[in-house]
Amino acid sequence: MKTDIEIAQSAVMKPIGEIAAKLQIPEDDLEYYGKYKAKLGDDVWNTVKTRPDGKLILVTAINPTPAGEGKTTTTVGLGQAMAKIGKNAIIALREPSMGPVMGVKGGAAGGGYAQVVPMEDINLHFTGDMHAITAANNLLSAAIDNHIHQGNTLGLDPRRITWKRCLDMNDRALRQVVVGLGGKTNGFPREDGFMITVASEIMAILCLADNMEDLKLRLGRIVIGYNYDNQPVTAKQLQVDGAMALLLKDALKPNLVQTLENTPCLMHGGPFANIAHGCNSIQATRLGLKLADYCITEAGFGSDLGAEKFFDIKCRFGGLKPSLVVLVATIRALKYNGGVPKAELGTENLAALQKGIVNLGAHIENMQKYGLPVVVALNRFATDTDAELAFAENYCKEKNVPVSLCEVFSKGGDGGTDLARKVTEMIETNDGSQRFAPIYDAQLPIKEKIAAIAEKIYGASGVVYTGKAEKEIAQLTQLGFDTIPVCMAKTQYSLSDDPKLLGRPSDFSITVREVRVSAGAGFVVALTGDVMTMPGLPKEPAANRMDIDANGKITGLF
Ligand code: ADP
Ligand code: MG
Repeated sequence: MKTDIEIAQSAVMKPIGEIAAKLQIPEDDLEYYGKYKAKLGDDVWNTVKTRPDGKLILVTAINPTPAGEGKTTTTVGLGQAMAKIGKNAIIALREPSMGPVMGVKGGAAGGGYAQVVPMEDINLHFTGDMHAITAANNLLSAAIDNHIHQGNTLGLDPRRITWKRCLDMNDRALRQVVVGLGGKTNGFPREDGFMITVASEIMAILCLADNMEDLKLRLGRIVIGYNYDNQPVTAKQLQVDGAMALLLKDALKPNLVQTLENTPCLMHGGPFANIAHGCNSIQATRLGLKLADYCITEAGFGSDLGAEKFFDIKCRFGGLKPSLVVLVATIRALKYNGGVPKAELGTENLAALQKGIVNLGAHIENMQKYGLPVVVALNRFATDTDAELAFAENYCKEKNVPVSLCEVFSKGGDGGTDLARKVTEMIETNDGSQRFAPIYDAQLPIKEKIAAIAEKIYGASGVVYTGKAEKEIAQLTQLGFDTIPVCMAKTQYSLSDDPKLLGRPSDFSITVREVRVSAGAGFVVALTGDVMTMPGLPKEPAANRMDIDANGKITGLF
């Protein structure tokens, strides 16, 4: 089989104006970024906002192996398959971060015959959104250090500045730095650090903002640290919220691209799925619902992290009502959950499959707790055996959940028509949008919200707090940050907070080590375990294999 980039380079793309025309977007409303990318700004929204909403479909997954189980691939393939069965669908995805593209092999625009194009652009600079977010983030950093340098009238405690600089590159050397060295004219020395751009709160804010007005208010509310009286200091107090919003004026507009089969795709925003909520922007999803009968979207990691935050944070803030969940499972991840080491996942192992399949059961039940019907998409890999596939299909049938063998990676939309039919039929007979409800009430105290997620979704018996977390919860509660949703940061490999507890663990408690507020995004982040906000490059970075020739032909980009 060809590589992803070979497949993408042989795609026959349509000019993006044609894709937009099929969505009944007037040509005049488009902001072109070359021939195959366009931004959709307020003009488009004003044209379409009175149209009825389509159906919202969330694609999520079981607990994955470290390689990823194909949520994006399935999302793209399902979008393509919808067209094959005569349905009108649009896809809404996150835009990839460039840092990881240079690091470990694997793009974020789907795979095989289910990809979004132009993948070279999408995986690199795209329409510049990441750069704009980086600039806005670093303007705030510059304003902080300048404020201290110019006399520090706000009494900022340099030891308690929580705002970090950012960069869209995997660069471990920048995790912890000292800024302001070199004498008086260079400001006050203090410890700082860099995050990768997608981990910046600006990214989360961009993805949750309703419009420019709301964006500005949220930017102003960002807590950048504390003063000597232990009071939070905000971006608004530093008076850079307006300039930050200005830097984000184009990044705020959703991007329109297409799949290999010319299905429209909105790609907009890409917040980290641990310290942030891990899904594309509310604006893009809202637009998608107006532009097609079905809007198919993805949330990062397994359903315990991605879907939970999609429902409890994004849908809550955006007033979104999903109709159905597509739960992606792979034989290899089920075997991994049954204890098989990574290197042996390609070999048939029915005993391990039987042991690991309880993980699928947990995710099915969890999604049903939100009132939503589930269709399982078995993402077929070349190494899956008939006996293994039959076993997994049977398990779903016994649980009374429709299951579809999905072959979009090797066959494109044709490999997903059965899934598309099962999804549309289920929505016709059992649309969950009227039943949908978040798993907790945002008004509950912080600890009760965390307990609800831990017990109902992770299956934990309780939550343990470190002394530090206890103190932080007390402080955030006192400051009035207690009646907003909680964004859990947890390993994606287990339903618990221990990546080694595979399958469906029971009798465990989770430990919350740290709690902070992302006041602009509008949630409290609860961290279980160490969360890496600046990845590093591996021994042999993917970048080492990339090249471009004299004719502009790119190689090695997956
Ligand atoms: P996720 O969104 O769940 O992280 P992706 O869709 O990005 O997963 O897929 C992860 C990687 O696995 C990608 O490199 C993709 O090309 C590959 N992949 C996905 N599905 C298949 C499949 N059925 N066979 C082979 N490779 C696949
Ligand atoms: Mg993905």
